[in-house]
Formats: sequence, C-alpha cells, structure tokens
Amino acid sequence: MANRFFLLIICLLLFSPVARAQRLPTKEPQQYKKVLLLMGTRFEFAAVTNNEQLAWEAIEAGIKETQRIEALLSEWQPNSQTSEINRNAGIKPMVVDQELYDLISRCLRISRMTGGAFDISFAAVDKVWHFDGTMKSLPTPQEVAASVSKIGYERIRLDPASHSVFLREPGMKIGFGAIGKGYAAGRARDLMRSMGIPGGVVNAAGDLTTWGKQANGESWYVGIADPAEKDKVFSWLTADEIAVVTSGNYEKYVEIGGKRYAHIIDPRTGYPVSGLKSVTIVCPKAELADALATAVSVMGAEEGLHLINQLKGVECLLITDTNELLTSDNLHLHYYKNQPLTGRTDKKEVKENVQ
Ligand code: ADP
Ligand code: MG
Repeated sequence: MANRFFLLIICLLLFSPVARAQRLPTKEPQQYKKVLLLMGTRFEFAAVTNNEQLAWEAIEAGIKETQRIEALLSEWQPNSQTSEINRNAGIKPMVVDQELYDLISRCLRISRMTGGAFDISFAAVDKVWHFDGTMKSLPTPQEVAASVSKIGYERIRLDPASHSVFLREPGMKIGFGAIGKGYAAGRARDLMRSMGIPGGVVNAAGDLTTWGKQANGESWYVGIADPAEKDKVFSWLTADEIAVVTSGNYEKYVEIGGKRYAHIIDPRTGYPVSGLKSVTIVCPKAELADALATAVSVMGAEEGLHLINQLKGVECLLITDTNELLTSDNLHLHYYKNQPLTGRTDKKEVKENVQ
C-alpha cells in the first residue's frame, strides 16, 4: 500500500538534546515532544522551553485544540457542523459557528485565487473514488461526470448576516481534507505560543509549522529528500516562523490496472491528477500552505509556479513525475556541499554538516 516515504521526504531534523526529567524551571531550554494520532494521521507537538510543566500543559492544549477542530470539520463524524451542511445540501442553509463560516469563506477566496483548482466541494466525488483499498475497478465515465456536475465552489452560498452556509444542489458535499490539517496546526501553534512557549513545532504528518528556535538556539531545519533516492537528504531549508507543507501522490492512492490514482482530484474533470509527485509550499500560514499545495498539484508545474511566483511570501518546491526538481523564484535551499542532486548524502552527514 501507500508508502509515506516513497520518494520525497520532508522531515524535520530535530537536533535538540533529549528532554530530561525535571519539574522546576531550569536555565537551559529543553525540547519536550508528544506524538499521537489525530485527524487520522500522525501529529507531533514539540515545545522548547525551560519550564517542563508549562511545556506539557501547552502540548495538551495544542492536542485539545486539534481535537476540537477535528470535531468541527470532520465530514465523517455525523454530528459535526460540516456533516450538517452536507446533509442539508439542496434543502436549507445551516447556521454554523463563526469559525467554520470564516474558514469556508477563506476557502472560497483560495478557490478564486487558484481558478477553482482548490475546491472544497470536490467532495462530491467521494461517492465514486475510494482511496481506502476497497476500490477494485475504475468508476464509469458517466459516474464521474455525474459527480463532477455536483462540484462548484460558486454554488456554496454564504450569508454573512446569519452566518449560514448553503450547498445549493442536492448531492453537493464539502470536505476539508486539503486544508484542515494546516488549519489545525496553525491554530495549535498560535495557542501554544500564546501560553508562553517561546519555540516549537506542530507537525501533522509532514505538514509542519514552527515558531521560535530550537533548544540550542539554532534555527529549525527541514530536510528535503532526494527524489531519486529515498531516505537520502540532499538539501535543506531553514524553517523559522514558517509552515512547510507537502502534498504528494505517494501518500494515498489506489492502483488499478497497473496505474496509480492518487487522492487529489481535478475539480474540472473529477479524475485524480498526475504530473507532479509532490508539491511543497513554504509560507507563514499553515492553512494557506496546505490549500496551495493541493491547488498546485491540480494546476501542474507551469501554471502552479506562475501562481506561486506572484504571491508575496509564498514559495514552493515541486518534484515532477520524471524526478525533475523545480522551485519558485525565491526559495532558498541549502545544498549539501553546494551540490544539488549529485551531492547525495544521508541524514546523519547532513545533520553534522548543519551543526
Ligand atoms: P495530504 O492530506 O496528503 O496532506 P492534501 O493536503 O493535498 O494532502 O489533501 C488531499 C485531500 O484533499 C484529499 O484526500 C481530499 O480529501 C482533498 N482534496 C482532493 N482534491 C481536492 C481539491 N481539488 N480541492 C480541495 N480538496 C481536495
Ligand atoms: Mg493540502
């Protein structure tokens, strides 16, 4: 099945010393870390502070915040507000929390910005594509066409007066698979920082967002794996106060008739996209980075790079199906011994090199 580390690995290289068991604030900051399953994926919360008790409190608060957001956004939990919106498609508008209303309204803005490549109403195709291993044959073109006719962010109606959301046609459906993890990671980071944690990382299965510095006072680094040799890091970028988010077709897919169909859907055709193995977006806001990673996967290299180069403070790194590495104009990668792609090394050597 899907191998998470198939070709591109974005991994955070944490160089801080292991947290020692201690209760009282000490002079030297330490890194405290917790890993657990949230939103159906591996979440990691790291806090750098000289106050252990505060570290664990902040990590617990970050976890609770992520769980709260999951309950609000999940299209699988029947009681979520998102499920209520979907159940009432074509029937009636649903009044939702301001938070969900605002998130949907930002989603619509990103849809307009990306010419509809990012579209939360893509979820209407959930009925025909299943990426959980249960699908054994392709849907018919008629089935795909019928589900595409239900996609269209223009038909998501928001009423600011009542903050209600209405999917105008029966069969429409929204889902936050492409933005929810980034949104949650950003909110958890903000919360942990507001509690007085000076530095840390929230890492949602490789979608990560950082603040402050490592325990040793150094910047955070994100290693970029060599697209041609898995488990080999060939470059890295400094990642302070930033989100680094990757969408890739190596994560979730089905193979039918020897062809791979991955979980990012082109809302115009209803079919999974191809062309890019992975898209990494670097920008201050995890939510935007998450959405744009999906959008650029749909748009393809040329159109995607064009968009990213126009957005101030947003950079990207793409790996094409033919293992070509493309970056936006202002992405600053550090190469191992300044030898991109040929200067391959393993993570240990890079770690020593960085230190
Ligand atoms: P990952 O979950 O691997 O980080 P993404 O952030 O790219 O990857 O999200 C992919 C998910 O987004 C899919 O599993 C699906 O739920 C949803 N999705 C797929 N296509 C689109 C699209 N065109 N617009 C918005 N969401 C999408
Ligand atoms: Mg995304």
